Amino acid sequence: MKNPIPNSVRGIIIGTWIAGLVWLENRRALRAVHTSKLRRDVRNLVIAVPAGGVMQALELPIAFKLAELAQRKKWGILRRLPLPPVVAGAVGILLLDYTLYWWHFLTHRVPFLWRFHQVHHLDQEMDATTALRFHFGEITISVAFRAAQIIVIGPTPTTVAFWQVFLFLCILFHHSNVRLPLALERRIARIVITPRLHGIHHSIAPEEVNSNWSSGFSIWDLLHATLRTETPQHTLTLGVRGFLGGSEDTICKALLFPFHIPGEPPEYNQVQVRQSFDALA
Ligand SMILES: [Zn+2]
Repeated sequence: MKNPIPNSVRGIIIGTWIAGLVWLENRRALRAVHTSKLRRDVRNLVIAVPAGGVMQALELPIAFKLAELAQRKKWGILRRLPLPPVVAGAVGILLLDYTLYWWHFLTHRVPFLWRFHQVHHLDQEMDATTALRFHFGEITISVAFRAAQIIVIGPTPTTVAFWQVFLFLCILFHHSNVRLPLALERRIARIVITPRLHGIHHSIAPEEVNSNWSSGFSIWDLLHATLRTETPQHTLTLGVRGFLGGSEDTICKALLFPFHIPGEPPEYNQVQVRQSFDALA
């Protein structure tokens, strides 16, 4: 099963988006840049190569094949609801995005999953390249969750393709080091996760890393009272507690990290927090 959105079209959309974000990062940085950006970019992009390979070779083909199978076999919630195709597509994107909120939560709470997800969090500065910095193990394990999402929800291959592009654009955006005008970001934050919101999630502080779990739409954090907006970016220390200083963060160490560092998940003492979008600092 081929991707319903041609590679050339996806390439143009994603390439233009990355170019725009990098241009803005250079002109309007949200957080001060302390270390060599070139070194970080190279490190993050090399870590991203095997993860991208797993995504292209495993995750996407399995996702589209299963979505096609779900249509034929009438699997999933959407196949049981008499919805017009466009509405079913929109509901499908919402359900895929909502279930991803829980996957992100699990990657922080289940020690085995945190071993891999913490490689993403080890980056002590954050920009669009952090969005690509995922350990190939995390992407491989997430294929099983993606398969479950598709079998239970029953989206069409086209819905999956649109969600994948939407999600990728969102992930690049909210990791980027772009300082948007605060009033504009407060408006955008009502719809999708923004750089300031996700910066808070990358903090080493337990109460901050245990908030803002959404990846696409921000409503899931609002509904589950895990929305934290009031922490100013300059007060944040990004990274993973116990691994600050950068010496752990080389390409080889990052790729081997999950296999020899047990990785105790961040202390979890979740209190309900539902701070206002208007208080985004
Ligand atoms: Zn995370």
